[in-house]
Amino acid sequence: MAFENLSERLQKALRSLTGKGKISEEDINKASREIRLALLEADVNFKVVKDFIKQIKKDALGKEVQESLNPGQQIIKIVDEELTKMMGEESVSLNKSPHIPTIIMMVGLQGTGKTTTVGKLANYLMKKDKARPLLIAGDIYRPAAIDQLKQIGDNLNVPVYSELDNKDVAEIVKHGLQEADKNKNDYVLIDTAGRLEIDEQLMDELKRVTEVAHPDNTLLVVDAMTGQAATKVAEGFNADLDLTGIILTKLDGDTRGGAALSIRAVTGLPIIFTGQGEKLTDLDSFYPDRMASRILG
Ligand code: GDP
Repeated sequence: MAFENLSERLQKALRSLTGKGKISEEDINKASREIRLALLEADVNFKVVKDFIKQIKKDALGKEVQESLNPGQQIIKIVDEELTKMMGEESVSLNKSPHIPTIIMMVGLQGTGKTTTVGKLANYLMKKDKARPLLIAGDIYRPAAIDQLKQIGDNLNVPVYSELDNKDVAEIVKHGLQEADKNKNDYVLIDTAGRLEIDEQLMDELKRVTEVAHPDNTLLVVDAMTGQAATKVAEGFNADLDLTGIILTKLDGDTRGGAALSIRAVTGLPIIFTGQGEKLTDLDSFYPDRMASRILG
């Protein structure tokens, strides 16, 4: 299960409080120290942890003055609320264009799950919105990526626009959008190239695609298992592109949770979806409150 290490640590830190009739400042300090360690070990950003602990102590000490029936439970509630806030509080949906098509551009480093997620999102929109999407194969440097997208298109019975001999991605995207207009597709999902690291050439290409496509959603796909590195990548992409949200993939293999917990607080970008497996159905909307409850068990 996702976040099992973090869950275990936090639950242990809080368990010591639940049995107590009254909680002293010393109890709160001790639990805070353990929570702090658990979060740092989960690879949550240092500053995010610092602010979090400060807030927990403030809330907990404030509450302690009031006579309470079950102080331990109250602290758990405070931690739950602050974890929720850390992840953005409200769930955020995709932007929808007032006229068709709504354009979604998917960006991210290589291997994070971009192409797979384009398929997952198309499947999600078809189920939820009865969408008729068109997929555009903009990852032209790896022929395998185009084949992979075509395969996904075949599985979903969704058209995929590609040009094998064209090396101008912006032009391919422009033609793909013309095709979508002709076919009255209501969503266009653009897969783009990734690299192992952010570089200028990649960013220039993505900027050119943005200028042609004017996406309603520019979603960064990041691998949850990379922890804080994912937040760095998000800051890097966001410096050059106006990202509208994050899709956090491979949450099924993430025992720590650092990316999920830090990325919103560090970048201000909402996590919109999470990927929790390799199948096309393994995509979930992200709800900060549900995630916090899941972490606290
Ligand atoms: P891209 O290079 O960013 O387009 O990445 P791909 O879509 O080719 O995905 C890379 C690998 O990650 C593939 O083996 C996918 O099946 C796998 N993958 C993608 N999303 C998830 C996920 O949410 N969970 C797991 N376990 N694997 C995933």
